[in-house]
Amino acid sequence: MTATSAASAAYIVAALLFILSLAGLSKHETAKTGNAYGMAGMVIALAATIGLAVDHGLSGTGAVLMAVAVVIGAAIGLWRAAKVEMTGMPELIAILHSFVGLAAVLVGWNGYLSVEADLENQTEVSADLLGIHSGEVAIGVFIGAVTFTGSIVAFLKLSARIKSNPLVLPGKNWLNLGALAAFAALTVVFVIEPNLPVLAVLTVLALALGWHLVASIGGGDMPVVVSMLNSYSGWAAAASGFLLGNDLLIITGALVGSSGAYLSYIMCKAMNRSFISVIAGGFGNEGSAASSDVDYGEHTEISAEETAELLRDAKSVVITPGYGMAVAQAQGAVADLTRKLTERGVEVRFGIHPVAGRLPGHMNVLLAEAKVPYDVVLEMDEINDDLAATSVVLVIGANDTVNPAAADDPTSPIAGMPVLRVWEAERVVVFKRSMNTGYAGVQNPLFFRDNSRMLFGDARERVEDILRAL
Ligand code: NDP
Repeated sequence: MTATSAASAAYIVAALLFILSLAGLSKHETAKTGNAYGMAGMVIALAATIGLAVDHGLSGTGAVLMAVAVVIGAAIGLWRAAKVEMTGMPELIAILHSFVGLAAVLVGWNGYLSVEADLENQTEVSADLLGIHSGEVAIGVFIGAVTFTGSIVAFLKLSARIKSNPLVLPGKNWLNLGALAAFAALTVVFVIEPNLPVLAVLTVLALALGWHLVASIGGGDMPVVVSMLNSYSGWAAAASGFLLGNDLLIITGALVGSSGAYLSYIMCKAMNRSFISVIAGGFGNEGSAASSDVDYGEHTEISAEETAELLRDAKSVVITPGYGMAVAQAQGAVADLTRKLTERGVEVRFGIHPVAGRLPGHMNVLLAEAKVPYDVVLEMDEINDDLAATSVVLVIGANDTVNPAAADDPTSPIAGMPVLRVWEAERVVVFKRSMNTGYAGVQNPLFFRDNSRMLFGDARERVEDILRAL
């Protein structure tokens, strides 16, 4: 067997492992096995690629450079993965997507410099093949550059280094459409006559478009943006695969691209957002004002001891966790509270909003880690109709996902987003540290309702206080 056919066989095995990995990741019971398949696939892919390079006459310097790159990359990856907090995952994912985008831009430029710009040394390239190659360069650079800057803006927004409000430039939709039309025209020019200035203009245009697309999207829609950039990074990798003639990169890119697009679609449906509007940089959403200036009246506080009293007398309790539970690392204490109340005969269930926290499935992972049984953890749609018959709802560090303004106020920036209707319960206790808004920057009228009580302080400390009082 030649090295090339051995590498092709290894690539097929790796591709199958990646598919098994995605299948495993779709359920939390099989997620760990899914990860293991993915890692095995990646090891095989790396080994096959290195073997192929050696067979193609990899020089000593080339081997050293490759080893140094692998060691540095692996060390940074291990260090970041070990250090990252669960709440910092989305921003880490966003910055990793930007690397895929940058790699696609560099592969595209390298493709141009080693083929179109070096035609004297290209003995076997026909004019037709050259045209296809130039088209691949233009498309690869474009998708890569949009992914690169888009992911950087997403990283800056998610890590609160810039404001999450949407940027509303005059005629923003026309700017996006104009950029797309200019890209199509530049690609045609580049295919007819490949040259450096056109490629440079195309790159700058795509960098600006990526920046503008993500900057135009408001905080509440960021989960969709992250999964959308995930999808773009897949297509960028697939475009690099075509340029490098690497089948595995094409397959992996297509898997990431299509699964990311499907996840974005599911999230848009869950948040009642138009998929097209989000991928077109907030098309049709001209940015409604935040309603934080409205006077909703007075809020009422409650102590941990009084909350314990409420829980003691409750028949049924629903806990709706949010980002604040992750910040406070309160999941262990919440699991203890669940156990204690269940032992006393209180029915305790959880209501999980699809975008609670800062990444898909964030709350489910935290609760699974704290060993809360899966069967009491319900999706928003499964619990919403039961909330009216619930004695007490504990809102632990959630805000946007329980905001009645989404249902009642058509002018709210989160209008139309389905939320957990916690206000329908007999009593609601909200755990948070202040009257600050949530991620979308919108005030929450829930806090001022007659049946709501505010329990201020760090969520974990307050839950531990309740446990003591019980
Ligand atoms: P929010 O971000 O709306 O609110 C979290 C609340 O937790 C804040 O109001 C904060 O109030 C409180 N909090 C923070 N730290 C603590 C603490 N230590 N103890 C107690 N409370 C605390 O959370 P939700 O989960 O309800 O909503 C998620 C939001 O994030 C949505 O807007 C969603 O679109 C967005 N998003 C979701 C992503 C995803 O994939 N799931 C990705 C990106 C964004 P205070 O400061 O007063 O304590």
